[in-house]
Amino acid sequence: MAAKSRMPLALLLKQELSSERRMEKPDILHGQASQSKKGEDFTLSMTECQRVPGDDASTFSVFALFDGHNGSAAAIYTKDNLLENVLSAIPSNLSRDEWIAALPRALVAGFVKTDKDFQDKAHTSGTTVTFVIIDGWVVTVASVGDSLCLFESAEGSSYFLSADHRLEANEEEVKRITASGGEVGRINTGGVTELGPLRCWPGGLCLSRSIGDMDVGEYIVPIPHVKQVKLPKAGGRLIISSDGVWDALTSEKALRFSHGLSAEAAAARIVKEAVQIRGLRDDTTCIVVDILSPGKLASPVPPPKKTGKGMFKSIFRKRSFESSSNSGTRHFEPDVLEEMFEDGSAVLAQRLNMEYPICNMFKLFMCAVCQLEMKPGEGISLHVGSSQTGRVHPWDGPFLCRTCQAKREAMEGKRPSRGIWHSQGYHQTSMI
Ligand SMILES: [Zn+2]
Repeated sequence: MAAKSRMPLALLLKQELSSERRMEKPDILHGQASQSKKGEDFTLSMTECQRVPGDDASTFSVFALFDGHNGSAAAIYTKDNLLENVLSAIPSNLSRDEWIAALPRALVAGFVKTDKDFQDKAHTSGTTVTFVIIDGWVVTVASVGDSLCLFESAEGSSYFLSADHRLEANEEEVKRITASGGEVGRINTGGVTELGPLRCWPGGLCLSRSIGDMDVGEYIVPIPHVKQVKLPKAGGRLIISSDGVWDALTSEKALRFSHGLSAEAAAARIVKEAVQIRGLRDDTTCIVVDILSPGKLASPVPPPKKTGKGMFKSIFRKRSFESSSNSGTRHFEPDVLEEMFEDGSAVLAQRLNMEYPICNMFKLFMCAVCQLEMKPGEGISLHVGSSQTGRVHPWDGPFLCRTCQAKREAMEGKRPSRGIWHSQGYHQTSMI
């Protein structure tokens, strides 16, 4: 202490600053493994994306898993286009904090645009999406479908960062779909016996959200659940897997198999164990991402503690509009996640609303979903038909273009969706 106190103040400050800077960006190691049955799982791993082109300090990473069904076209299209659609919904010239605050809304716009553009190509396949953006210690996860993302802190606490959109697991989603004109039930073989998971008809999809699937009702929406967290400085591990893994392994088991292994070896072990238990009945894919304190280039090996029920925090819970906008500085125990944002609502008007952190992120005459430039007066206010008409006016932005407004109405069950026009009657081609 005595030696330190004699240090010149400038030097001390410099040391503090540089150690702060070192803490700013974690080291990221990743690995993945996959065993293919239908060839419909696709992944994306990018560690050198830049918020500001040419600026190394603005680097962020993207990891994503797309589990296709009824063909691979939707998964491939989404892998190729979603990131660009998300980034184009973020205004330029934002600071890092503003960029991070704008992400949840841009993710919603990007998912809906990708779905709408894909449907214009008249393909009938669909895909789940688990899309993870890591910027410094902030992790943002947007998800539709049932490929789940799990985080384990270096101390051994675990959290789901994605939603589970299987109809079977989601009473609220069943209610939403039924209210929008869809029917939800199990396959009936003619007698009283009902088989398999809950499915939505027509189409027979057992998910309430996906990208693609134009042959099911548009109440199967592409609006993602978004959760944004700040990691504890000790870091931790993300495990992103398709249902081929989660149908075979509990989260506890997946974590246990991964302990003590590098990211690459952990992904391989999880896939191997899942296939061994259940056989290769489905595409089985796992991405493991270690987010580590700089200079600690070894995979975290959490101590074997905190096991048992109640440890996993399920996050698919509906929040009120007010609390969903931004929970800002909610603090948990020091070794666990700081929750920055969470919203799983399927209502587009709520997800693109101006109450979010940056009020002016949408340019005035640009569609908030597809970024199409419109002439003054052409845009349709997001607030038309919304339940908050007392507080906002039809001339208040953000605005949607004509086709995105049509998409919105279809998603809310307010007009027959294209899927229904094209596929009257019940068929089972979309089953997964
Ligand atoms: Zn539009």
